[in-house]
Formats: sequence, structure tokens, C-alpha cells
Amino acid sequence: MPTRRGFLAGGLALAAGRALGQSAGGGRQRVLIVGGGWGGLTAAARLRRMAPELDVSLIERDAEFRSLPLSNAWLVGRAAEALPRRDHADLAAALGYTCLRAEVTAIDRARRRVQAGPHALDYDWLILAAGIRYDYARWLGDDPRAIEAVRRLYPAGYAAGELDALRRKLADFKGGDLLMTVPPGPSRCPPAPYERAMMIAWWLKTHKIAGRLLLVDAGGGMSRFNRVFAERYKDQVRHLTHAVVKAIDPFARTLSTEFDEIRFDDAIIIPPQGAADIVRQAGLLETGAAGTPGAWAAFDPLHLHAPGDERAFLVGDLLGRASPLFGAYPKSAHMAARQGRIAADGIIARARGVAPAPTLPDSQCHVHTDVDPPEMMRIEAAYRRRGDGLIVQSLRQVEERQPRGEDEAWARGLYAEMLAAE
Ligand SMILES: Cc1cc2nc3c(=O)[nH]c(=O)nc-3n(C[C@H](O)[C@H](O)[C@H](O)COP(=O)(O)OP(=O)(O)OC[C@H]3O[C@@H](n4cnc5c(N)ncnc54)[C@H](O)[C@@H]3O)c2cc1C
Repeated sequence: MPTRRGFLAGGLALAAGRALGQSAGGGRQRVLIVGGGWGGLTAAARLRRMAPELDVSLIERDAEFRSLPLSNAWLVGRAAEALPRRDHADLAAALGYTCLRAEVTAIDRARRRVQAGPHALDYDWLILAAGIRYDYARWLGDDPRAIEAVRRLYPAGYAAGELDALRRKLADFKGGDLLMTVPPGPSRCPPAPYERAMMIAWWLKTHKIAGRLLLVDAGGGMSRFNRVFAERYKDQVRHLTHAVVKAIDPFARTLSTEFDEIRFDDAIIIPPQGAADIVRQAGLLETGAAGTPGAWAAFDPLHLHAPGDERAFLVGDLLGRASPLFGAYPKSAHMAARQGRIAADGIIARARGVAPAPTLPDSQCHVHTDVDPPEMMRIEAAYRRRGDGLIVQSLRQVEERQPRGEDEAWARGLYAEMLAAE
């Protein structure tokens, strides 16, 4: 077992509550959380706060937590990074759970065992909150050299560890055609590429940079942004809608669609996405049309556990279809945090021998639609169960003409829950 500060602190902090939540072997029941993003951190903090009788361990491959929400303005130097970064080991020590920095490479659900680097860890309860994987192969084929080149030269900035490289790329951009792809859905935070495109357009315009953004969009865009691009940034953005990417050549710097071959000087390639790799290894992918594995995780939509396995819970962006009425839940930080809370509560109830109450999540997403003057949009999603048991989604889009930091207030609210901060 590792001896990092967080691991020790968590182990020592919990001496009480032995009778409740004991595992079959007589010790405390152990919850293992894989992934310390919005979903995993919220679950860890809630379990620690609400169930002192349980042993809580988080396994995360990155050293620090950093927010993707609110990063787009920072990328173009419009704002200081709005949310503080947190070292995972410090956070675990402060909140009283244990933390192991490692990559989980295998999950054996029959044995309830996780392989993380050299460590084999047993669990009573598992929360899988590992986020997304990039599916470059859909655009680049099975060409490791091309995939490595796109990762290195044209990072998506859809994982926190890529943000610094993306910011440097924009700071170094002196003009020409900058290409950015909007991937086909389902994908992480669908409004994010448009907000980022708007920020880049604003930055090109105000800094008088002789460049333009070629936005190659698998879909039709979002109506509010389509208007903003056409009315305010027509010299900065060329928005190609319903453009299905056929291939990318990162060495020749070309992207081909059904109709065009587009040359670019630099690029931000946001690729198609699916559930994190570990979901496939754990045998938790949905089944696709012809019985083949799909891209996202299968789960029980009312309780968030794996199908037929009430010991393993799934939360966040990795989830697949929640309802035939609307498909997947929005892949937002708000949603991941809510699901982290629901999974934690479900585990606490089961560990105490109480029937878990089905709970549905909700989501909110705050998006900047322009900078000067500032405008924002809030997308809210609420859920209820219909008489036949299916989950129904209600979406509301609110335009905020005079925003006053609503996005930061929202993010600090979630931070307070998961980092016990502010
Ligand atoms: C530019 C941008 C802007 C966004 N803006 C908003 C916004 O305004 N509002 C909003 O609600 N959402 C926003 N989002 C979406 C939000 O970031 C995601 O929905 C959220 O991060 C999902 O949380 P998660 O816990 O599912 O996954 P993540 O936050 O990705 O966490 C997963 C963690 O698991 C770790 N991991 C993965 N595999 C392993 C493994 N095998 N072993 C160990 N660790 C592993 C990863 O390192 C990562 O830390 C935005 C996203 C982007 C890209």
C-alpha cells in the first residue's frame, strides 16, 4: 500500500463507527472510487461526511484537480483562471479519505478487485467516475503515428492536463487558418466548443490578428451562437455545419469532409468521444445495434449501479443512455457532481442495510455567448419519472443579457460540496 500523506491521513482519521458498515471479513467496508474529477470528488467528500463507518479511497492518475468549466475565457487571456487547482493528496488529507495516485488498469468485478499500478485493492463498493476517452481512430484510422501527432500538435483541451498546451498554442498563433472541430454527439459539454469558438473570435478581433477560425461542425450549431458568429464575428469565424469528417492528415495539415478538403495552419482537434477505457475493460459498455459494444457505459438509470451488479456504481460523463425518451444525460460537471452524490447515498444506504431511494439528478450549464458586452446563457435540465417508469427530461434555455458572475457563483457552489472549500 502507498504511504502518501492522503492515504495515511484518511486511514487514521477514521476510528469510529466500526459496527456499521463492516465488511464480510469483519473490517470496515471499503469504497473505492476510480477517477477524481467532478463526479469522483463529490462522491468522496459526501461519503466521508455522511458515513464515517466506511473506508473511502480515491484512485486518480493525475496529481491535481483542475476545472474545465470556466477555462475558455482563461485560454484567450480574458480572465485569470477562475477556480483554484487542488492537489489530490492535500485534498484527501484535509477531507479524511485516502488517495492513491495511479492508473487503474483492470477491474475484476467477480472478485471485487481493482488493479492500480502494482497495487491490487479489494472493494466492497466501487464508484467508476473515469470520464471520457478520445476516439481518434474514427477520424485517423488505426494509425498510431497520426494519432500521436494529433494528440501532441493539436490537443483538444477536453482534459485538464491539456489546457496549458492549448493556451500556449493560442498565445503563439500569429495568423492564418486555425481549424477547430466540433465532434459528433454524445460528447462532453456540447456548448463548450461554441463558447471557445466565440472567445477565440473575440480575441482575434480585439487583438487585430489576421487569422480566422474554421469551425468544422458535425452538427448544425446552436442557434444563439450561429447568430453571434454571423452578426458579430463574420470576419473571424467560418462555420461549416453538418460537416462529417472523413479523414485528417496532421502532417500535410488537411482535413477532408464529404465535400471539401480543408487546409489549415494550426488546429484544435476535438475528436469523437466515448467512455473512459477502463469501462470497456470492466465489461460495462452498452451493447450496440448488432450486439457489438457501444461507446458508453450501461447502467441502471434510477440507482446508477451497473446492470446486475449493485456493488459497482457509474457516474459522470462516461454514462450511456438514461432513457429512450432523450438518450444520455447531459455530460456536464453539474450532472457528474449530482450523480456522485446519488451514488454515494446509494452505497451508504446499502452498507447500512437500508433500501436505497431512487433519486434523479439535475443539470445546469452556464455559457458565455459574447464578451463585450458580456452575455450568457443558462441551460437547465430537470428529470422526472413518467407513469410507465421512463425518465422524462425538461430542458430550459435562459438568456442572461446582463450577467453578473452567475457562472462563477455556480461553480463555487459545486466546489464547496466536493472540495469542502469556500
Ligand atoms: C472546455 C470545457 C468547458 C466545460 N464547461 C462546463 C460548464 O461550464 N459547466 C459544466 O457543468 N460542465 C462543463 N464542462 C464539462 C465538465 O468538465 C465534465 O462534464 C466533467 O468534467 C465530467 O466529470 P467526470 O467526473 O465525469 O469526469 P472528469 O472530470 O473527466 O474526471 C475523470 C477523472 O478520472 C481520471 N481517470 C480516468 N481514467 C482513469 C484510470 N484508469 N485510473 C485513474 N484515474 C483515471 C481522470 O484523470 C480524471 O481526473 C466543460 C468541459 C469542457 C471540456
